Amino acid sequence: MAVAEDQAALDEQEALILDAVDRFLERDVRPVAHDLEARDEWPAKIVEKMKDLGLFGATIGEEYGGLGLSAATYSKIVERVSAVWMSVSGIFNSHLIMAQAVERAGTEEQKRKWLPKFASGELRGGIALTEPDAGTDLQGIRTTARKDGNGYRVNGTKTWISNSVQGHLLAVLVKTDPQAEPRHRGMSLMLIEKGEGVSVSKLEKLGYKGIDSGELVYDDCFVPADNLIGGEEGRGLQQILGGLELGRINVAARGVGIARACLEESVRYAQQRKTFGKPIADHQAIQFKLADMATQAEAARLLVEQAAKAYDRGERCDLEAGMAKLFATEAAVHNSLEAMRLHGAYGYSKEFNIERYYRDAPLLAIGEGTNELQRIIIAKQLVARSPA
Ligand SMILES: Cc1cc2nc3c(=O)[nH]c(=O)nc-3n(C[C@H](O)[C@H](O)[C@H](O)COP(=O)(O)OP(=O)(O)OC[C@H]3O[C@@H](n4cnc5c(N)ncnc54)[C@H](O)[C@@H]3O)c2cc1C
Repeated sequence: MAVAEDQAALDEQEALILDAVDRFLERDVRPVAHDLEARDEWPAKIVEKMKDLGLFGATIGEEYGGLGLSAATYSKIVERVSAVWMSVSGIFNSHLIMAQAVERAGTEEQKRKWLPKFASGELRGGIALTEPDAGTDLQGIRTTARKDGNGYRVNGTKTWISNSVQGHLLAVLVKTDPQAEPRHRGMSLMLIEKGEGVSVSKLEKLGYKGIDSGELVYDDCFVPADNLIGGEEGRGLQQILGGLELGRINVAARGVGIARACLEESVRYAQQRKTFGKPIADHQAIQFKLADMATQAEAARLLVEQAAKAYDRGERCDLEAGMAKLFATEAAVHNSLEAMRLHGAYGYSKEFNIERYYRDAPLLAIGEGTNELQRIIIAKQLVARSPA
């Protein structure tokens, strides 16, 4: 009985939060998304509303000022936001991966210092792993952090880093011992604020506009030893990979959002657009497209839900998160192309949202571990979980 009541209270809390998110999206995001994206403009007013809603603390524990949401509720928020404008979700998603690294691996002092400011959105950021010569193979990074008095001197370049222009700080993966074997033992994660020794430039890209992606150069940048996450060198790769499960569920949820938005706009359009004297929804070829798009979106949603529930139970879920990420992001790519075909020339037009989904969706197959890497992770887990 007590368990059922707890569940009912959680369901009610989730319904209230999702309702608030829906109202925010309809009032503050949908009306401006098209123009801001066309101008590649960072959505300052939307970010202020996101602070009020508590989105920057969505998954941060309540004891540190966050909302303490489950992965299941969080993924539903991400799906909803991405169905309207995916870039808005990136502004709090990457930030929360940084926060999660501190919450899971940081010292108590670090949690008390940083997490309340992350939760309020007073300090915002993301994660800086990728370098010009290392993305999938993170152990190949070259950024170094050399001991200097009561801190480190950091040198190197990070690229394609979300929230790096508008954000205040990043969780940066560095080599504290470049000679270490195996290589991951020489890797550490540290919070680096922007300032002296850090320069950043904005990168141009196909889609995912509005949110800033940047290249950062660290030139003898001094970082206090207190900013080393967990206070111990050599654990950086493990700390960041631990957080990527939630990151993958979140990218998968974005995929569901785009796949669903493409479906909904296609169903609407297919009922309005007429050819040969009837709505195109009455042509069997179009019906097949809609059926396939709906099945893809729904299967993706179920995989995300399964992975999020496993995560919330505290289970190891790289297999489930990998499957969700792989399937849902491919569903987004598939549905965005099908939506474009179904809309004919209007799908190719800047006036409609379809071309934006078509430009945004492929990023999902690259970020948070490419889909090739997801297949490798899934297969390794399949083998590990099945004794020969
Ligand atoms: C808009 C945008 C935002 C981003 N935001 C961030 C961010 O906030 N923080 C961050 O750190 N990074 C970010 N990235 C970078 C992203 O995480 C990397 O692009 C991604 O990890 C892939 O790395 P890569 O581009 O270096 O490709 P590579 O690692 O060079 O891979 C190239 C190709 O080879 C394939 N490949 C690699 N290894 C294998 C293998 N063993 N087997 C089979 N195929 C393989 C890959 O799947 C890919 O198809 C962002 C990228 C973009 C475009």
